[in-house]
Order: sequence, then structure tokens, then C-alpha cells
Amino acid sequence: MPVPLLDLKAQYLELKPELDAAIGTVMENAAFVGGPKVAELEASIAKYCGVEHAVACGNGTDALFLIMAALGVGPGDEVVTTPFTFFATVEAIVHTGAMPVFVDIEPGTYNMDVSMLEAVVTERTKVIMPVHIFGQCVDMDPLLELAEARGAYVVEDACQAIGATYKGRPAGSLGHASAFSFFPSKNLGCAGDGGVVTTNDGDLAAKVRKLASHGTSKKYFHDTFGVNSRLDALQAAILLVKLPHLDRWNSERRAAAAVYDELLADVASLELPVSREFGEAVYHLYIVKAASAEEAERVMSALKEAGIGTALYYPLALHEQEALEELEGFVAPSLPVAESCDARTFALPCFPGITTKQQEEVARTVRGVLA
Ligand SMILES: *Cc1c(COP(=O)(O)O)cnc(C)c1O
Repeated sequence: MPVPLLDLKAQYLELKPELDAAIGTVMENAAFVGGPKVAELEASIAKYCGVEHAVACGNGTDALFLIMAALGVGPGDEVVTTPFTFFATVEAIVHTGAMPVFVDIEPGTYNMDVSMLEAVVTERTKVIMPVHIFGQCVDMDPLLELAEARGAYVVEDACQAIGATYKGRPAGSLGHASAFSFFPSKNLGCAGDGGVVTTNDGDLAAKVRKLASHGTSKKYFHDTFGVNSRLDALQAAILLVKLPHLDRWNSERRAAAAVYDELLADVASLELPVSREFGEAVYHLYIVKAASAEEAERVMSALKEAGIGTALYYPLALHEQEALEELEGFVAPSLPVAESCDARTFALPCFPGITTKQQEEVARTVRGVLA
């Protein structure tokens, strides 16, 4: 029985009549960039995340960049983040001219180890950027307290965590501003690229909006140099159809994760994801860690042979990436927990609608190699 890592076509078929109608309406209205659908989406996302402002943009990477640009982050500044995330996080930092500074991660959650922040925050730290990796929130309260004491902004990379909560508060409402991605594979995905910035700071929201649209707030008059990063009306229309289903999809992901937790509990050499009691995770990915890269390779080969989708997340920590060598003044730190994940942490299929039979097949295949 083949099991994909993610089934985007099934999600389309589930909502086909509504999606097709929404797309048709945009085509007929012929307002393609920005416009009322995008404004409606922004209002819906702000409400969903419990914040006052949402500003749509071209993708999650731009959302991160635009927030930092609006905060005035630039050369001479440092941005503290995690090495265990998608490359976009550090790319957005580097494009502001700031220097990325990495702290190690916790085993099990793979999130930034907040207890290590104190040691790397300096007077140059302008932003602390937690990434809610795989859909579970970073332990935000101690992070926020430290940031406040040291005068740093907190920018959440919530690209994998829409719908997750921390002590009852939604991801995207915890720091000064947050970035979400609507890339198709994210928990709330559109049919292409898309992103949004959320914040309670009205001035910041206005700056992000201006920067995302060529530095203009009045057409053909430019107060500053911006970029072109806007959301298409088609994507907004698609997201508006999907948003009301997000909480149900996220609980299906949580339920599927609980099934794996049980099916794989006694596989001694496999580390299952740890879920912290302070919030609800949304399992953007269900990540397991093998005892060695070689063992991960053997399990992944068996899965692929059985037609089961899997992939390494992430094969190489960011501070070890070749691109970082281009950065003048960057000295790669030693981050043993993050490095211990290289080529060892991989995803098992965990998407809304996955059946118990499919999960049993996945577990059987994994156990066939390790148990
Ligand atoms: C997907 C992702 C991004 C980038 O989002 P795009 O929309 O692809 O630009 C940034 N950070 C994390 C953690 C992500 O998962």
C-alpha cells in the first residue's frame, strides 16, 4: 500500500466545488494582485491568530525579511536563531545585512534551547528569532523575558506552526511580529507561493505593507526603497476556502501523531518526537531520529521500497552549510545537538486524512528494519 508523505490532491478533491468556484470568481472579477479578497484574508488571519494586523506578502521568506527590514535590522546587528530550520530563516537574516547567530537545540522537540540564549545575546542582538519547528512552539515565556530585559525584538518564524498554541496563545501572536508561509505543503497552503506577517504593532504593519509594495503608500510616490512582494487574489481566495478547515486538519495531524507514538513506542533505537505540555503542536511534520545516519538510511530505503514517502529534515544544520562560508566574519559555532541530527532525523507520513491502516503499514516497515 503506497503512502505519500503528503496528499495535496486529496485535499483539493475534498473542497473541489468551493475551490473551483472561488477561483472562477477571481477570474471573472479580474482583480489579480491585492484587492478585496486579499484584504478579507488578512482580516481572517488576524482574527485566527488573535492579533490586530495581518499583512499578506509573496511568501514566508519575504515575510521574515520584511519584518526585519521594517524594524530597521541591518549591518552591524545580530539576529539569534536556531540552526535546525529551513534555510529561508537564515537567508532572510543575511539579506538584511545582519549577522546570524545560532544557539543549539533541545533533543526531542528540535526547537531552540532557550536556556542557551543568555550566553549568545550581546548588545548587538537586535532580534531573537524562534522557529516553531515542525509545528510545535518554542518555550516562549523565558525567551520573551530575556528579550525584554536585553532590548531585543522577538520575531517568530511560525511558517510551520499555523494553529499551534503556547499556553493557550496562538503561534503568531507571541512576539513583536511573526511570519507565516502558505507554501503548498504547509498546514495551510495555497496553490503557489504566499505568506503573511502578523503583529499587534500598527506602525510596524504599515511599514511592512509599504516595503512589500515598492516603498509606496500612495501610488507612484515612493517614500523609500521596498520590494515587490504581494499576495495574488487567487491565492487569497483559495486560502479563504481552506482556513475554516484548518483546525480540523490540525487535529487530524495530532491524532495521527498519537497513533505513531503508540505504534512505535517500543522501538528502542528510534527517538520519537517529544511534545511539550505547554501547548498544542500541529505536527507540520512527524520527525523521528535514528541511532545513526546509516540506520536512518536503512529505514528510509525500506520505506521508499514499500512506496512510503519519507525525507530527511534536515540533512545538514544551517551553521554547517557551505553558503555560510561566504559570510564575512561568520565563525561556525559548535552545536552538538543540532549536529547530532545531521542525516539522522526523517519524516514519516502524517497528514490530514491518513488512515490507521496506512500508519500501520508505515510502522510495520520501520519495525521490519529496527525491531
Ligand atoms: C517554509 C518555511 C519558510 C519559508 O517560507 P516560503 O513561503 O517557502 O518562503 C521559512 N521558515 C520555515 C521554518 C519554513 O518552514
